[in-house]
Amino acid sequence: MADKPHQNLAVIGHVDHGKSTLVGRLLYETGNVPEHVIEQQREEAEAQGKGGFEFAYVMDNLAEERERGVTIDIAHQEFDTDEYYFTIVDTPGHRDFVKNMITGASQADNAVLVVAADDGVQPQTQEHVFLARTLGIDQLIVAINKMDLVDYEESRYHEAVEEVKGLLGQVNFSTEDAGFIPVSAFEGDNIAEDSENTPWYDGETVLEALNDLPEPQPPTDAPLRLPIQDVYTISGIGTVPVGRVETGTIEGGDNVSFQPSDASGEVKSVEMHHEEVPSAGPGDNVGFNVRGIGKDDIRRGDVCGPAEDPPKVAETFQAQVVVMQHPSVITAGYTPVFHAHTAQVACTIESIDSKIDPSSGEVAEEEPDFIQSGDAAVVTVRPQKPLSIEPSSEIPELGSFAIRDMGQTIAAGKVLSVNQ
Ligand code: GDP
Repeated sequence: MADKPHQNLAVIGHVDHGKSTLVGRLLYETGNVPEHVIEQQREEAEAQGKGGFEFAYVMDNLAEERERGVTIDIAHQEFDTDEYYFTIVDTPGHRDFVKNMITGASQADNAVLVVAADDGVQPQTQEHVFLARTLGIDQLIVAINKMDLVDYEESRYHEAVEEVKGLLGQVNFSTEDAGFIPVSAFEGDNIAEDSENTPWYDGETVLEALNDLPEPQPPTDAPLRLPIQDVYTISGIGTVPVGRVETGTIEGGDNVSFQPSDASGEVKSVEMHHEEVPSAGPGDNVGFNVRGIGKDDIRRGDVCGPAEDPPKVAETFQAQVVVMQHPSVITAGYTPVFHAHTAQVACTIESIDSKIDPSSGEVAEEEPDFIQSGDAAVVTVRPQKPLSIEPSSEIPELGSFAIRDMGQTIAAGKVLSVNQ
């Protein structure tokens, strides 16, 4: 599987529209349902004198695992097609979809949007599409699901497609960047094989569409950016910061700088999985040791980069945000907590510079008095403590954030420019 390119795939859509079922179906059709689940199924089928492999059983099992709290397993479901090796980066039912997409293990390259044919576009459909746009998803596969519940009616499929196209237009997703497929995740129609139930449809199956996704761009030649997750002191070795390399490479002998703590030194050694490695690159989780740096010199939320091209520290920054759910209105002066890479810093929205018209992407209103749920806007932000963050056009991996308040994610955004 290592010889295939990797895709991080998000599965998005309104609650109950069939995201989990579709993921389960994809795992099943690609032969990636965990062995113990298959084994258990076989035994039960035999005990009941039945053959066959009930898809519903697989789903129940995955649901059961989820209820038992095996969220890590579920959150990192993997499967492969002829062309790609896929990791589902966020999972149906996850409460912290947005936060995970930004600060989680991996950012999605592409997404499958699930819309139930009998229910059409709903609030979360809208919210997730907004977010996918803001967070830089390239391409959407739109699965119009539960076709079995609408008698595989062509007219209902087209109605649902038109609803979704309207929504995509609103956020400037070109409909050319989206493929539409009538499916039943539950029955398996048009997932791995063309369905006889939709003779009026001659397009791709979901697996074909997944195979045809554009290959994710390889990590840029951006400089090293390694957000620090934790800092340990290990006897005999010294201070060991750990984190995941987002861009660039790190190796022994490098001169590195930690920002905003403003500490620097020479990398002595780099470890992965408790073994010393000559160098590490994007996606690698590393622990490393830097000459002359003490435990109190650096902290979680710092970003490590080359001394000659250190991570930026923002005095203020300009960003495009999408407000997802805020009980009232957001005005200048509002100071919620921003989550960017491993940092959590209270930041003041100093000014709301413009409101963006989602249908054209153009400025709809200069300096509006407030913004509210559903609005997109350009804002100027002042971190209340030093924060290292980068323009998303330069280093996308370090250029997005979630805004949290009252225990929930209320907005998400990407950084347009940084004033140091
Ligand atoms: P999620 O909240 O989006 O992850 O939705 P689920 O996958 O949990 O599905 C919600 C409900 O819809 C479950 O009862 C599923 O069995 C059912 N469901 C999902 N896909 C289909 C489908 O294609 N046809 C039918 N009839 N039911 C489906």
